[in-house]
Amino acid sequence: MLVDLHTHSTCSDGRYTPSQLVKMAAEAGIGILGITDHDSVNGIEEALNAAAAVPGAPVIAKGVELGTQVGESSVHILGYNIDIHNKNLLDKIEEMRHAREKRLHRMLDKIGALGYHITVEQCDPKNRAVGRPHVAKALVKKGYFSSVEEAFDVLLKRGKPGYEPQPKLSPEESVELLHGAGGLAVLAHPAEIENLPLVNTLLSTIPFDGIEVYHPSADEKMQQCFLQMAEKYKLLVSGGSDFHGVEGRFPEQLGIFKVYAEKVNIIQKMLK
Ligand SMILES: [Zn+2]
Ligand SMILES: [Zn+2]
Repeated sequence: MLVDLHTHSTCSDGRYTPSQLVKMAAEAGIGILGITDHDSVNGIEEALNAAAAVPGAPVIAKGVELGTQVGESSVHILGYNIDIHNKNLLDKIEEMRHAREKRLHRMLDKIGALGYHITVEQCDPKNRAVGRPHVAKALVKKGYFSSVEEAFDVLLKRGKPGYEPQPKLSPEESVELLHGAGGLAVLAHPAEIENLPLVNTLLSTIPFDGIEVYHPSADEKMQQCFLQMAEKYKLLVSGGSDFHGVEGRFPEQLGIFKVYAEKVNIIQKMLK
């Protein structure tokens, strides 16, 4: 059986609604579908309802992906089987969203004073994860820069005059939050951290339940390395496509990045 424990819907930066994801997963023969939006559990109920109505629909793994920061490194943490009504979790998610909005205002004030005039509305403010990429795109659209990269290099990167730090949870806090909501905490796409010593430190010092071994960012060699870590730190093995449905970003379709149920023992805990 195929599974996909990591997908994004329109409740964060995915292209398709939770219902569309469920339908596409059913068509692709996916037996378990994880809905793991960035800092949002808003898509879960729709996915559960859609799964109840679509013949051959996958079982829905109720998930979330929390963005955390360690120094310069961005560390994503997946939560599964969480209570989507847990007050602490919902409060914290809301608090982070407010903090991001405030940061956007500070950033626009800062670059405005430098002569770059962008409004909040030009920065996709409804996006739950609004940040520098959206500001950069708006700057390019207004003709200040020729590319997003240039906008970062000149203005938005750490150390540049428009930089404003992003408020983020720590991995410790996030894992605690997920456990408090009755969930399992999984280190997402460790290859994207691009820092194996940090991955080892995280896994040895924070009570993670699992590691996402199978993900488009990890080649076979990396997968072997992460499997060894799973064994060493007694972690469940997870996997998913991180499907966003965005053109030019692999996988462009659900079901083409294949994760087999027998390789991801986390599902035994999930389906309990
Ligand atoms: Zn991620
Ligand atoms: Zn993701």
